[in-house]
Amino acid sequence: MISYQADEKGYYGDFGGAYIPEMLYPNVEELRQQYIQIMNEPSFREEFDQLLRDYVGRPTPLYYAKRLSEKYTTNIYLKREDLNHTGAHKVNNTIGQILMAKKLGKNRIIAETGAGQHGVATATVCALMGIECVVYMGAIDIQRQAPNVARMKMLGATVIPAMSGSRTLKDATNEAIRDWINNPVDTHYIIGSVVGPHPYPDMVARFQSVISEEIKSQLQEKEGRENPDYVVACVGGGSNAAGAFYHYLNQPDVGIIAVEAAGKGIDTGESAATSALGKEGIIHGSKTLLMQTPDGQITEPYSISAGLDYPGVGPMHANLFRTGRGEFISITDEDAMKAGLELCKLEGIIPAIESSHALAIFEKRTFTPEDIVVVNLSGRGDKDLNTYIDYFQL
Ligand SMILES: *Cc1c(COP(=O)(O)O)cnc(C)c1O
Repeated sequence: MISYQADEKGYYGDFGGAYIPEMLYPNVEELRQQYIQIMNEPSFREEFDQLLRDYVGRPTPLYYAKRLSEKYTTNIYLKREDLNHTGAHKVNNTIGQILMAKKLGKNRIIAETGAGQHGVATATVCALMGIECVVYMGAIDIQRQAPNVARMKMLGATVIPAMSGSRTLKDATNEAIRDWINNPVDTHYIIGSVVGPHPYPDMVARFQSVISEEIKSQLQEKEGRENPDYVVACVGGGSNAAGAFYHYLNQPDVGIIAVEAAGKGIDTGESAATSALGKEGIIHGSKTLLMQTPDGQITEPYSISAGLDYPGVGPMHANLFRTGRGEFISITDEDAMKAGLELCKLEGIIPAIESSHALAIFEKRTFTPEDIVVVNLSGRGDKDLNTYIDYFQL
């Protein structure tokens, strides 16, 4: 049977691997040799589980959304990652990686961030552990995302502006990689999604897999079976989706639905719908699908939701797309915003705009009255309030 997990070299079918400059090799190799062994140590598991429980607030509820289900005449469960400490799933990964850094004897953390959500999740766990934290962020993004910059500073992180190129996420990534090359001994680089060179996509997917681990036991309790008919998640880099899909990847009776941001429309040149528009290429040290010009320059993505505004997808998702194991749907800004507001009115939950993309599929696609559909509600909408206010003129 083919597996949709990473193989030993970090390949998901044709995608993945570690395409890195030679100077980065020692750092990545050290991590690659040790990550599985460390994650399997009982002392690691214990501390990870304890922090997820007492600090993050896990398990997050699996909530039967009654009014939403009635509206679409099917059975919709929401996996409430929005209820995690810091308001989204990202902290599952940063908790895992800060513990990994400690086991590797590192005393300095670097990260890059676009909208600032991953920067905040990283600064949070560094404060928790009393470890130095340096976050690279594009100078333009620093201007656009002032509240998250303030949060990172309050949490004790140093935020360094990336001044080169378009002064956005990819430039911040370049600066972080340069830092890591220069500080190979004491520094761990916390990547925020299932992207980057092997072993990052697999390691991050394993940390996030707590999401589907919990869905299985919670669904067993509520419905008498572990497997839903469908599991749905939005995909930026793909970490919340990887976590929600993880334990279902090799279960053919579970449909996997990945939702991408179509921005203003797939054909408008302003979108982030990588599966529809992407071609094979290398980004961030990994072979995957990415949006690029005919001569291979990465194109600037666009989405109303900062977390989906990424020009590639992680290699797991590229493989789910290419093999047909996953169904990929892209949702425009407009449809996502409507679905977000609908969840507010029907369930009293204000979702992150990223998560609203996943919710919008119920207008695009029908399910039977018997189907059980689990939607991963990746985050809460507090961070998006200004976008909601401007959009709906509230
Ligand atoms: C960052 C973010 C995403 C997108 O990142 P993935 O790695 O694709 O999960 C989705 N939802 C929320 C709430 C986020 O903060």
